[in-house]
This record gives sequence, C-alpha cells and structure tokens, in this order.
Amino acid sequence: MKAPPFIYHRPETLDDALALLAEHGDEAKVLAGGQSLIPLMALRMGRPAHVVDLGAIDGLAEITEADGAVSLGPLVRHEQANRSDVIAQHAPLVAQTMPHVAHRAIRTQGTVLGSIAHGDPAAEMPAVVIATGATLTATSSSGERTIAAAEFFEGYLDTALRSDEILTDVTFPAWPSTAVSSVVEVARRHGDYALVGVVTTLDITDDIVTDAALAYFGAASTAIRVSAAEQSLIGSSPSREAFDAAATIVAAELAPPADIHGSTAYRKHLAGVLTTRGLTAAVDSIGVPA
Ligand SMILES: Cc1cc2nc3c(=O)[nH]c(=O)nc-3n(C[C@H](O)[C@H](O)[C@H](O)COP(=O)(O)OP(=O)(O)OC[C@H]3O[C@@H](n4cnc5c(N)ncnc54)[C@H](O)[C@@H]3O)c2cc1C
Repeated sequence: MKAPPFIYHRPETLDDALALLAEHGDEAKVLAGGQSLIPLMALRMGRPAHVVDLGAIDGLAEITEADGAVSLGPLVRHEQANRSDVIAQHAPLVAQTMPHVAHRAIRTQGTVLGSIAHGDPAAEMPAVVIATGATLTATSSSGERTIAAAEFFEGYLDTALRSDEILTDVTFPAWPSTAVSSVVEVARRHGDYALVGVVTTLDITDDIVTDAALAYFGAASTAIRVSAAEQSLIGSSPSREAFDAAATIVAAELAPPADIHGSTAYRKHLAGVLTTRGLTAAVDSIGVPA
C-alpha cells in the first residue's frame, strides 16, 4: 500500500523546519530516517498532511562528548552510532544496544533520536534512555526546553514532545567507571522487534551493588523500569540468588499486554527469565562471579 497524499517539505535550515511545524501543527510530522513513519503512513496508521524532512539540514548528525557525557543530534543514524569510537568509549551501553536495533539496512537509515521520538515500547533506545537518565532537548520556534528521561515517554507511541517541537539532542550522562551493563532480548528472528527485552546497568563497588537500573521494552505501553527489583539488588553482592529474587519481583510486577506473538503470562515469564540473564551478562562482562 502507498501512503495517502501529503505535502513534502525539505527545509535547509532548522529554523525553517521549526517554522513549518509551527504553521501546520498537528497536521505535520517530522521525517528523519523514515523507517517507522513511512510504514505507518503506508498502513494508514498515520495521515499527516505535511511531512517535514530533516535530511537537507546541515549539522544534525553530530556525536559529541563533553566531560564524559555524550550527545547525539537528530540525524545520527543507528549504524553511525554503532561505528562511533566516541560512543564505544564513553557510552558503552548505547554501543551494546545498536546491534539489536532492527537489521543493518534499516540501521543505515533509521536515526537514534527518531527511535526515541517515536516512543515505540518494543524499541530498545527508549529503555536505554530511561535506564541511563538521559536528558532530551526539544526545540520549537519559541526556544528550547530540556526534558528528563523519566518525563519523556507518556504512552504507546506518545511522548512529551509537542507537535511544533523537534527532538534536537539526547545527552547520555558520563558513564561511571564502576558500571557494567547488558542488553538482552527475545525476538522471533534476530533484528525483529523483541517480544520482551531488558536493558541492565549495575554500579558495583567492592563487590556490592551501589546502583541498579532494569529497563524493559516490549513489556508495557512504554519502556518501563521496575524499581522494586532494582532496590532489591542495591546493597547486596552480585549473586545468582540476588538475581533470581529480582527476577521474581519483575515477573510479579509487570503486566505486559498480549498480542498475536505472545500472551501476558508468557511475556511475564520472559521478563523474569531475561532479568536473570541480563544481570548475569552484565557482571560477566567484567568477570564478577554471579
Ligand atoms: C522491519 C523493521 C524492523 C525494525 N526493528 C526495530 C527494532 O528491532 N528495534 C528498534 O528500536 N527499531 C526497529 N525498527 C524501527 C527503526 O529503528 C526506526 O528507524 C526508528 O524507530 C525510527 O527512526 P527513524 O529515523 O526512521 O524515524 P522516522 O520513521 O523518520 O520517524 C518516526 C517518528 O518519530 C518522529 N521523529 C523522528 N525524528 C524526530 C525528531 N528528531 N524530532 C521529533 N520527531 C521526530 C517522526 O515524526 C515519526 O512520528 C524497525 C523498523 C523496521 C521497518
């Protein structure tokens, strides 16, 4: 199926793109990599009258680092992030995540910020954003505002972005030298959206967990952290018993929606299994015995 008719805009400056969004409001959609927007339009699940393509605007594909924090602009493609030395060195969790996002052909077009702005609960990057406490910058013709990760994802494909705003930056905080992480998921085929997955980060000092994040995708209407399970890990040694206890809490707390790919009960079970697997993979990466 083809998308319904729309007016295509290809502005050459960010100001012009923002002016178009201000003019057309809810009738307009930003186009970044097009890997989610175009299929949705073809399926008639989105019918914007105006599409504002960011592709001709210079300077939007920057990856920068300052004091250990890493910032990405709106045209950084997944594959660019996958190959970035800056990301590999300063944002290792983002680097770990990229190979899980779709297939290479899609990664060469799809953007990291597009994935975040789209807010698909089955996508990996929203979970990375909430696990790391990243900050997001939304820009409109009236200025910029910063949105905390915890405030950004509001519902299924719904974020705190207004229709006149472009997500112009995501900044991941400096990665602690004591942190370990993993991304694990179950998908029907590698590169497909996961049935359920979890992004795990642990801070470990002197064999004690001092901080933990467990952020799930494919498990709720948004990416979601399970703070009771995180709290259960803090103050303990990383061990199989502690991981299984956290997994039990996760399986009890989450109530993933059912669809044709899996029931709620199956996804709850998966979330528990993946919790133990994700925590084990995180500590294995530095050789801490679990
Ligand atoms: C077959 C297939 C498999 C896939 N598998 C996965 C997967 O396993 N994991 C995964 O995470 N993703 C997957 N994707 C999605 C892919 O990663 C997309 O690239 C990504 O979700 C959206 O990025 P995009 O740049 O293509 O955004 P677009 O499609 O251009 O835009 C998506 C939405 O975000 C908005 N938007 C984009 N950029 C901005 C911005 N800077 N500011 C404001 N709004 C913006 C658009 O208006 C639109 O509503 C898959 C896609 C396909 C087609």
